[in-house]
Amino acid sequence: MNEPILAIVVPCFNEELCVKETAERLLDVLDNLCNKNKISDKSYIYFVDDGSKDNTWEIISRLHDDNKRIKGLKFIRNFGNQKALTAGYESVRDLGCDCAVSIDADLQQDEWAIEKFIDKFEEGSDIVSGIRNSRSTDSLFKKTTALLFYKLMNILGANIPVNHSDFRLVSKKALDIMELYPEKALFLRGFFNDVGLKTSYVYFDVKPRFKGESKFNFIKLMGLALNGITSFSIVPLRIISVLGFIMAFLGFVIGLETVFEKIFFHNTPNGWATTIILLAFFGGIQIFCLGIIGEYIGQVYREVKSRPRYIKETELK
Ligand code: UDP
Ligand code: MG
Repeated sequence: MNEPILAIVVPCFNEELCVKETAERLLDVLDNLCNKNKISDKSYIYFVDDGSKDNTWEIISRLHDDNKRIKGLKFIRNFGNQKALTAGYESVRDLGCDCAVSIDADLQQDEWAIEKFIDKFEEGSDIVSGIRNSRSTDSLFKKTTALLFYKLMNILGANIPVNHSDFRLVSKKALDIMELYPEKALFLRGFFNDVGLKTSYVYFDVKPRFKGESKFNFIKLMGLALNGITSFSIVPLRIISVLGFIMAFLGFVIGLETVFEKIFFHNTPNGWATTIILLAFFGGIQIFCLGIIGEYIGQVYREVKSRPRYIKETELK
């Protein structure tokens, strides 16, 4: 029997406090799985340094010098976690692997759950998604916004399970299909749910970050959510069209009624308040709708410029 080659993809941004320990713990997992004959001894770890400003890359290079099972790639600047993951998947596909697992550099996800991922892969799943058991380590704000986001995404038609994460296994087949999606702002969670490959789920516990601080701020999270929505669903645009139609129809009826009253009852309306409220309300809706359309235009704009998703500075193979 041929054991599969596993590549573990780890995006890192200013993780100098974490990478060394993360590498050691992941090597333990690889050794353990090799000993159980679950994966090939050609399996490796692939760090993607997302333009860190600290010593992350120096540490990764040193780890690579000591152990060739540790490989890596450095971006020329920070492109964001989704791009780092995309680059990781694409690079390990080119380097060669049968399946890839992505995990955060702070090992908040349980690295020992990787064994369950491999089992599901062996049973024939092309995608194994990690689902958080709880969000106890997240702030109340992050919990609420994340829940809202997943609910909204489901209403909009992208069936991403709540508490889905970027901790997942994807097969070589899934990686090959990913190459067929040329869009620059590929929203990975949506994409892997959408392609239609056999998917299974593994539940895992989230631990607190063992060193350092979260690299995600409010702006980055908002960006991720907006990109997720606009790259995956055109339902908001449709809602605007329907809303516009209903409003136009209402306006027509109200207009008719006013004309009718004016002609037959001669009572000039003294409804200042109503006028102002209506003006403000419809003004608000209009600007909101323009904003949504703007988001989509922005998405199109970014895509037609066709800039590279990321730029590699160095790679350690
Ligand atoms: N990350 C990245 N680029 C960024 C922000 C984060 O590659 O611009 C990485 C980070 O190093 C970590 C993972 O993405 O490995 C998840 O980030 P973090 O743990 O800070 O997020 P949280 O767990 O707080 O959601
Ligand atoms: Mg984290």
